[in-house]
Amino acid sequence: MKKKIIVANWKLNGSIKSISYFLSFLKSKIPLYSRKNIIIIAPPTVFLERVYKNIRNTNVFLSAQNIDVNINGAFTGENSVLMMKDIGVQYVILGHSERRLFHYENDEIITKKFGLVKKLNLVPILCIGETEIEKKSNQTKKILKKQLKSILTVFGETAFRNTIIAYEPIWAIGTGVSANPDDVQLIHQFIKNYIKKYDTISAEKLIVQYGGSVNSLNAENFLKKVDIDGLLVGSASLKHEEFLKIIEISDNILQKK
Ligand code: PEP
Repeated sequence: MKKKIIVANWKLNGSIKSISYFLSFLKSKIPLYSRKNIIIIAPPTVFLERVYKNIRNTNVFLSAQNIDVNINGAFTGENSVLMMKDIGVQYVILGHSERRLFHYENDEIITKKFGLVKKLNLVPILCIGETEIEKKSNQTKKILKKQLKSILTVFGETAFRNTIIAYEPIWAIGTGVSANPDDVQLIHQFIKNYIKKYDTISAEKLIVQYGGSVNSLNAENFLKKVDIDGLLVGSASLKHEEFLKIIEISDNILQKK
């Protein structure tokens, strides 16, 4: 049975106090909930080591929210994938729409970063998704193909082995308006079939998560779907009880299978 992967993306939020509280709560519950799920926390870079010290030797894993396109050198203010690996990071979120929008990251930059993450044997969590205008003009599939193709063109047919894809419709992120789970199921199927055309092994093992205004009230409707292999949770992951509820829901669904 495929484990569901639940990622907490804390974005630019948190303090030493709030993180300590969250982690001690999570640690007390984790042995119960992490048997079936894989739980990943993506805190702001400055808190990565603190989180790592708390989750080491548990079934909770660490993700960076971003890396630089360079490994080292004169790039003031940046952090490299090599440094991330050095402090215990195993996953890296790439292509998040907030980075595409506010930091002008295009497919070329994201592809470069993807290559660096792969080179160091970490796992990319590649976010793809369409804007509201693109959705309304029926371009979702075209946009997703373009985003996936830019990786396939550079890294070849096996590019998506050991990769997580997060389908995140941009109009659903941070808006309180989540996508329809039936639509998401079809889109995940489309993503897997598209990748299958190039590499059956990648497609079979591929984890495709959904992200966009997920909370404890709607999580079940997504997680019940056969091709929704996990969730990327933003604002709801900042509230420890809410996040734990989502993990518990996933656990219950897997229990029934
Ligand atoms: C995200 O940050 O990727 C996200 C999905 O955020 P939210 O859950 O707040 O919509």
